[in-house]
Amino acid sequence: MLIARTIQECVSFRYKINKRVGLVPTMGALHKGHIALIKQSLKICDITIVSIFLNPKQFGASEDLDSYPIDDLRDLKILNKLNIDCVFMPLKSEIYESDHSIDIVENKLSKLLEGDSRPNFFSGVITIVSKLFNICNPSDVFFGEKDAQQLIIIKKLIKDLNYNLICHAIPTVRSENGLALSSRNEYFNESQKEIASNIYKSLCLIKAKIDGGEYNVNVLKKIFSKSIDNIPELQIDYFSIADIHTLEEVSKTISSTVLISTAILLDGVRLIDNIEYVI
Ligand code: AMP
Repeated sequence: MLIARTIQECVSFRYKINKRVGLVPTMGALHKGHIALIKQSLKICDITIVSIFLNPKQFGASEDLDSYPIDDLRDLKILNKLNIDCVFMPLKSEIYESDHSIDIVENKLSKLLEGDSRPNFFSGVITIVSKLFNICNPSDVFFGEKDAQQLIIIKKLIKDLNYNLICHAIPTVRSENGLALSSRNEYFNESQKEIASNIYKSLCLIKAKIDGGEYNVNVLKKIFSKSIDNIPELQIDYFSIADIHTLEEVSKTISSTVLISTAILLDGVRLIDNIEYVI
């Protein structure tokens, strides 16, 4: 496994290869969710590149950039065992040189849901993702459904900026109690993880209600609020039932496939989760 620490090392590695190259972008602190993406790349592609870059541009001033879990040695051991071909671990100073002045902005989808709570987040994400696409020149890229809005915006980035690559969506990997795996779960002890599992349980409750014929979004929103409010440690940032393509809120009743998504605070840590309801 090549550990490429500079852009030049990664580019030189890439340009010697005339095969199907998969790229899995991550911010490190790898867990089984990341590993599911990597395994899919290993299965489909001839060569797999995993990037590890804690991207400062996607963190707001009051967010957890400084405390975000980092464990490069552990990550490298995991990647080595998986037998990937190259890990790209660039320095911040090389990715964002002091005169960096061009960021990419999406003007519609990124204003909603997560974008409403985190105004510069998606610009930070698609700027780094574009740079990684340009450096690694992959034929295939792998992203998780855990970050559903991110995935939708990255698909739009690929379409609108004519990136010639295939984007693969990988289902959310969860722990046994339903909690979506996330690097941020490292902030929690076991009892906090148990509390956090109520986020997915509440999403499943909404799914069960729709299955039972309840299509009224106001009723569903009240059911979700009540379910979360039962657990004093959890606070809702937002809960949304939105059209899967436009991400516009459904105003009255569900009549086509929706993204049901939420952001919840637990002891100052912001957790997101979602389910898709197909109609
Ligand atoms: P991150 O390191 O959090 O930026 O995540 C890197 C990639 O892993 C993104 O495409 C995420 O959507 C994906 N990912 C994170 N957690 C999970 C999970 N629990 N299941 C599947 N994919 C995930």
